[in-house]
Amino acid sequence: MTNKEKQLAKMGKKQQRLEAGLISEHFPEVSSIVINMKNYQKGINPIPIIRAFNFWPTSYAYFNIECLSRDCVDGGFDLDQVITTMIRCHKELGEGELVCDGNNLSSDHSSIHYKVTIQYNKKS
Ligand SMILES: [Zn+2]
Repeated sequence: MTNKEKQLAKMGKKQQRLEAGLISEHFPEVSSIVINMKNYQKGINPIPIIRAFNFWPTSYAYFNIECLSRDCVDGGFDLDQVITTMIRCHKELGEGELVCDGNNLSSDHSSIHYKVTIQYNKKS
């Protein structure tokens, strides 16, 4: 893959994010979303990397977390489905595992263990 192709793939993701719209538009009942994850990488580093992401009503409703693998271009962890389902069921806690969805099989693909916490606006 050339540098130009890599750049195009990255731009595609940015575009997707812009088109996703804001959380307040899609999920007006949500006041905050926190994603905590442990990132496991094969081989290189046996110690998981802890990452945390905060989303507010003014954030984009785009829950695709970047993969940390060096060679990974179009991969990532898509929590969109997880979070949308949680909001629909009004669930506050969700937990699970995901594997990078990149299709570059030569790279050292990573996996995550995620914990999602969603807070809802109190109905008055
Ligand atoms: Zn990856």
